[in-house]
Amino acid sequence: MAVEIFQTEVGLLGNFNELIADAATRKCAVVDPAYEVDRLLSEARARNWQIEAILITHTHHDHIEGAEEMARATGATLYVGAGEADAAMAAVPSAKLVALSGGETIALGETSIETLATPGHTLAGTSYLIGGAVVTGDTLFVGGVGRTDFPGGSPQILWQSLQKLAALPEETRVYPGHDYGQSPTSTIGWERLHNPYLLCQSETEFVALRTGKNAPRPLRRG
Ligand SMILES: [Zn+2]
Repeated sequence: MAVEIFQTEVGLLGNFNELIADAATRKCAVVDPAYEVDRLLSEARARNWQIEAILITHTHHDHIEGAEEMARATGATLYVGAGEADAAMAAVPSAKLVALSGGETIALGETSIETLATPGHTLAGTSYLIGGAVVTGDTLFVGGVGRTDFPGGSPQILWQSLQKLAALPEETRVYPGHDYGQSPTSTIGWERLHNPYLLCQSETEFVALRTGKNAPRPLRRG
C-alpha cells in the first residue's frame, strides 16, 4: 500500500494542497483544491498521476474554491462530510459527490483511504488517513488547531475530534490545511509532545485555552 505524496502551498492564505498517489496504479487523490488548479493538474501530469478523487476536509472557500475546475478537468469524484454536502454541491455542481459520516473506506487503486469525522472547526470537518499519513484540514495544524468561532464551529466538539487524531499511531505524518507551523508537516507523536492544545489535560482546559484572549497561535516559519 505504498503511496507517494506531493505537498505544495497555493494561494495567498498559506493553504497546503496534497496530491496523494497510489504508487502501484498511479491513481491519485487531490486534497482541498482551491487555487492554482492549473499547476496542480500539471504537477499530476508530470508524474503520470491520474486524479480520481477530490478529498474535501471542509467547505470553507479557501479549501473548495477550485474544486469545480478540478472536477471538470478530471471527472474525479468529490468526497465531503455529510453535514457540508449542500455547501459542496453548491460550490461544485459538476462533480459526482459522496457524502461521508466518518469510518468509510475509499479505494484508490491498491490503496485504501480511511475517513475520520473531525468536526469542531466546521460542522462536518473530515480527516483522511492514507498510507501512514493523515490529512487534517483546519482541525490540526503543526503546533496549533483550527478556529472555532466560525458558523458550525465548537471548541468542545473540536476537542473530541483532536482526541481521535491524537490516538493515531505516533509515527502518523500530519498534513495540515495551512502552512502555519515551524515545518510543513509533523507527526502525531510530535504534536502530542509540543502542540499546546494537545497538551491540555481536559476539555475544560482546552476550551478555556482555545477561546481565551491569549490563545496560542502556531509559530510562523522564518
Ligand atoms: Zn477553515
